[in-house]
Amino acid sequence: MPRLKKQKENTIKRSRRKITPLQTVKGMRDILPTEQFIWEHILNKSRSLCDDFGFKKIDIPILEYSELFERGVGQTTDIVEKEMFSFETRGGDKVSLRPEGTAGIVRSYIENGMSRWTQPVKLYQEGPMFRYENPQEGRHREFHQFGFEIFGDGCPAIDAQVIYLAWKIFQKIGIKNLTIQINSIGCGECRPNYKNLLTDYYEMKINKLCVDCKKRLAKNPLRLLDCKEDKCMQVASSAPQIIDHLCGDCHNHFKNTLEFLDELELPYVLNSNLVRGLDYYTRTVFEIWSSDSDLSANQSSLGGGGRYDNLVEALGGGDVPAVGFAFGIERIVKKLLNDKISLDKKNNRQVFLVQLGDAARKKALKLFDKLIDNKVSVGESLGRGSIKSQLKIANKLNSKFALIIGQKEALDETVIIRDMESGIQEVITMDKVVAEVKRRLKK
Ligand code: AMP
Repeated sequence: MPRLKKQKENTIKRSRRKITPLQTVKGMRDILPTEQFIWEHILNKSRSLCDDFGFKKIDIPILEYSELFERGVGQTTDIVEKEMFSFETRGGDKVSLRPEGTAGIVRSYIENGMSRWTQPVKLYQEGPMFRYENPQEGRHREFHQFGFEIFGDGCPAIDAQVIYLAWKIFQKIGIKNLTIQINSIGCGECRPNYKNLLTDYYEMKINKLCVDCKKRLAKNPLRLLDCKEDKCMQVASSAPQIIDHLCGDCHNHFKNTLEFLDELELPYVLNSNLVRGLDYYTRTVFEIWSSDSDLSANQSSLGGGGRYDNLVEALGGGDVPAVGFAFGIERIVKKLLNDKISLDKKNNRQVFLVQLGDAARKKALKLFDKLIDNKVSVGESLGRGSIKSQLKIANKLNSKFALIIGQKEALDETVIIRDMESGIQEVITMDKVVAEVKRRLKK
């Protein structure tokens, strides 16, 4: 069939694919209230540690010009080649939903003249990323990352500090069984020689490689080292190791970084096959892996990062060394759920308002307002009629006290305060309720 005709038929076939507006777009998901407390836990711990380490929050747009990622992340990376959500605006601009956070922050660093700020500039960001990947467990098309970057300092102590912060965040979140996988991928001086060596090695083994790796070899031989296909992993295990081919400066940088990690007593594993999937890295690259057997190889990387000393310059800024890290929030949520970690679910309410009849409902509405103004967490079920069913909910929410307003209380301007544990009830006047509740909660 002629090519054009086939393309047209494919487009028609695709547009006939049965979709319904009542489903999330493929690879995207809702984060329901039942999961939100875990997200809050992860974000609060991460933000607070970033704050302790002197990082400032930055928010950047979700949409950037596609060229930023093409030049930043790299034309030959899987992300740019196959995974970007790109489209043309009505004005004809080519834009993409961000597939990762670093390129955008670098754009912002340059655009906002941050090289004139006191260096190093330490920034953190959080938010959705988009990659058109094959959706599967631990891989979504919309996922969320928390990441941080340090600009303007090339010292290996900074690499160690970023790794330390990443590690500490995971500890504070409560994740166990982790390892830090670390490698150096050299610089513009030493990497080209190593790439040649690697290409020579792989060319001799070309028949033992998967289809994708055969294609990747000419464009990006480093990526062959981290292919997850069994046969490619076998070939990679005897490949030349970059560590043996680093130039003097890169060798010293890596050695010093490891010494700082030793000083911090961080449990790292040297992994000569770790290369990361983005072109901008130089020298140190690292990932944090979960060693849990219940996570597949695809999902065992919880986060990754490294040094990218040439990216600012490559995107039109000055010669500014930088290093960063990002982790995927969905994978951490899954890990916490697997580990059955107990967190404060925050569903609990200190007091619960129980009402009977319309007059009481009106009083309850006003009392609710007074209580929340006084920072008391209040539960209510204004639509329900029976006292019994309302007390049941109060129990579920672990409320310490129920405040009951019946028809009589509504007339008398009083409230019954019931201790949910002992069942003891007392009547107090409406104007004293808030003070009394606060006094009892303090005990
Ligand atoms: P990367 O930028 O590919 O190194 O990804 C950093 C982290 O983001 C990974 O370790 C994952 O935790 C997470 N991540 C990357 N891609 C996805 C995805 N498609 N779905 C969910 N999480 C992802």
